[in-house]
Amino acid sequence: MTAPREEKPPPSCEHGNPRCHARPARPYPCGWKCDDHQPARTHRRTNP
Ligand SMILES: [Zn+2]
Repeated sequence: MTAPREEKPPPSCEHGNPRCHARPARPYPCGWKCDDHQPARTHRRTNP
């Protein structure tokens, strides 16, 4: 059985509003994020 081919938009960063849409983006539990907005960075807000 072959499923009909769906056109999926290329994954891009879902961070921010309007969205960042940077690429490449990686899948995270909270969505696709680019290197700049990956959870490891955005979750850690360090105030110097
Ligand atoms: Zn981004």
